[in-house]
Amino acid sequence: MTNIPLTEITEPAVTCSTCAACCCQLEVMLITETGVPERFIDTDDWGGEVMLRLDDGWCAALDRNTMMCTIYEKRPLICREFEMGDVECLNERQGIATVYR
Ligand code: SF4
Ligand code: SF4
Repeated sequence: MTNIPLTEITEPAVTCSTCAACCCQLEVMLITETGVPERFIDTDDWGGEVMLRLDDGWCAALDRNTMMCTIYEKRPLICREFEMGDVECLNERQGIATVYR
């Protein structure tokens, strides 16, 4: 008999492919120049540049069909540093667990 830890049976692995891009609903400030196209850039109440979010709450650069970033190579620094499986990631997944596929 194979010994599989119980957690592997009962808890799905944390992976972006089982997540509805929860973190792409967060406000993303543009603090460095990475080449984000102008059409995806908005200005916040304090005059800072942020990623534009559409009425559904997700970042304008997110492909709504694939739930993947359409500007991955040019995505902001904050998106690059957001780590899958980290506390923030787990919090976001928990927050909208009902929309998981
Ligand atoms: S919240 Fe975590 S699992 Fe979901 S898309 Fe973001 S990094 Fe991936
Ligand atoms: S730029 Fe890409 S990774 Fe960053 S929030 Fe938008 S869709 Fe998500």
